[in-house]
Amino acid sequence: MNERINMSSPDVTDVEEAALVRGFRSGWIAPLGPEVDAFEAELAERCGRRYCVALSSGTAALHLALLNLGVKPGDVVMTASMTFAATANAITYTGATPGLVDCDETGSMNPELLDRGIRDQRDKGARVSAIVPVDLLGKVVDHDAIRAVADAHGLPVLSDAAESLGAVRNGRPSASFGDAAVLSFNGNKIMTTSGGGALLTDDADFAQRTRYLATQARQPAIHYEHTEVGYNYRLSNLLAALGRAQLSRLDEMIERRRQHRIAYRELFSGVAGVKMFGQPDGADGGETVDNFWLSSILVDEAEAGWGSHDLLESLLQQNIESRPLWKPMHAQPVYAGTPRYLDGTSERLFATGLSLPSGSALTDEQVERVSSAIHDFLGQR
Ligand SMILES: *Cc1c(COP(=O)(O)O)cnc(C)c1O
Repeated sequence: MNERINMSSPDVTDVEEAALVRGFRSGWIAPLGPEVDAFEAELAERCGRRYCVALSSGTAALHLALLNLGVKPGDVVMTASMTFAATANAITYTGATPGLVDCDETGSMNPELLDRGIRDQRDKGARVSAIVPVDLLGKVVDHDAIRAVADAHGLPVLSDAAESLGAVRNGRPSASFGDAAVLSFNGNKIMTTSGGGALLTDDADFAQRTRYLATQARQPAIHYEHTEVGYNYRLSNLLAALGRAQLSRLDEMIERRRQHRIAYRELFSGVAGVKMFGQPDGADGGETVDNFWLSSILVDEAEAGWGSHDLLESLLQQNIESRPLWKPMHAQPVYAGTPRYLDGTSERLFATGLSLPSGSALTDEQVERVSSAIHDFLGQR
């Protein structure tokens, strides 16, 4: 059997190894230390934010941000249905219910449905307390449109930018949008700390409260006084060292993924019924609003004569991983019965979409294997 090719494997080199050893030898084997401080400063700079708090995961960052925004049990938090479960799960941890909103063709939260959802929930007597848009597969949502709805209803925006680090919209980094934004450094994300996340904001109190809640909410007393329930959510100093090395290579990793996008676009150009999901590439000079985290296609089965599931199966036989875009949360058994405002777009993206191997660690040989597997598949159709 051929060696397995994954969609997005960690891309680590001697640079990361040296950073980990540096962190280890410094003696700061703890969830705080100079690497964490430096990582936070570098991330804040990269994201155009005043403050960054490094945390143990993107999910932890979402959880603490929601608590800081005042989300309470019984509230409704409007979020994207087309997302990874972590977004809805973090809302659920607070005791609130996710109000699921459909997306448009680009994966961006649909502002009309968002507006309708907020009105409907309020008419039903619910306390709507925040909006959490999600940058789907590295594509920055239309924040101007979301912000207009948020302002009309007096709601804060927490941006789930877990998938979009390095992407830019209107000249602004993805994590610079919203009252606060969240990043993830999980193993398959555009950069990794093996596991980790971060919260970014321009509000000093918000950042301070996040640090406090992330360290068991201990008051500054020698005996550790506690007046609130806290969490153990800080990032280890060793992993922050790894994160700094990854961040120093982020642009080169994005560029490698962008090359994959261009190659897929060429591979599928002229194939009836197939189009790339999102902006095809960054080579046209226009703004791309994408960090190319994953490259995906949308297949119109009637026109193509085959479906995305056929290609998935065919690649799997060659031990090549591909996956549908996220299964929308409103279709997940665990979220049955949650409020939803839909127009069918996310279900169609789920039914027709397929993400292809996109990692920056893919070798030229692996890229070649994937493209010839797709080429052969198309030839047999
Ligand atoms: C990965 C991801 C998260 C969660 O991040 P973890 O670091 O895995 O906890 C949250 N939201 C989205 C959209 C993600 O893709």
